[in-house]
Amino acid sequence: MQKLAAGNWKMNGSAAALAEVGALIAAHPAPACEMLLCPPATLLAQMTWAARGSKLMTGGQDCHTKASGAHTGDISAAMLKDAGASHVILGHSERRADHGESDALVKAKAEAALAAGLTAIVCLGETEAQRDAGETLALCGSQLNGSLPEGANAANLVVAYEPVWAIGTGRTPTLDQIAEVHGFLRAQLVKRLGEDGHGVRLLYGGSVKPSNAAEIFAVRDVDGALVGGASLKAADFGAIVAALSAA
Ligand code: PEP
Repeated sequence: MQKLAAGNWKMNGSAAALAEVGALIAAHPAPACEMLLCPPATLLAQMTWAARGSKLMTGGQDCHTKASGAHTGDISAAMLKDAGASHVILGHSERRADHGESDALVKAKAEAALAAGLTAIVCLGETEAQRDAGETLALCGSQLNGSLPEGANAANLVVAYEPVWAIGTGRTPTLDQIAEVHGFLRAQLVKRLGEDGHGVRLLYGGSVKPSNAAEIFAVRDVDGALVGGASLKAADFGAIVAALSAA
């Protein structure tokens, strides 16, 4: 299985930030893992152009359930594809919290992504209160089962485990806690998808940085990372790509 280092720029970056893309590609022309950046939609086409001919793939951070229509401010999966995207992040905890996205909506968006030929990166993870209440596995299981698109397989689905309390906080779960959730998610994926469940990339996300990447990538069933803050700088994201390439 090819591992995946995915960066989520969130609502950050202007045209000037594309210099980071050039620096990343120059420093990592042939990584031994897949490398993806998901910029804000305003930069997607420009970033795709900047990455042409390189190993860097680009993706969106959200899409609508419909292919087109009267939905002011929204972007369809087909439009992301048209702008050069290969992937789209769906169900990120910030969208679940800020926009009230339910599992059913994430599933519908993921199905739209697959229909447009994109790979869906479906995010899930517990809040700190849910972890403290011992609900982590039950919650992750119900989010996974509720958000999994029909037609998912190892090629068109990536799942990102992102504990909400670890995103942007500098805090991370213990390696045992990551292993427990990833092992559980793997078993759920195999139950739902059969053999294909073994091939779905399971990313860990939440305060991954150059200093902790190697130990996280050594955890069983961690097939890469979804990286927020540290993906904004080529040097930091490049160090994470290098750690994953060496894992
Ligand atoms: C994220 O946005 O998915 C994320 C994991 O952010 P950070 O790496 O900044 O914690």
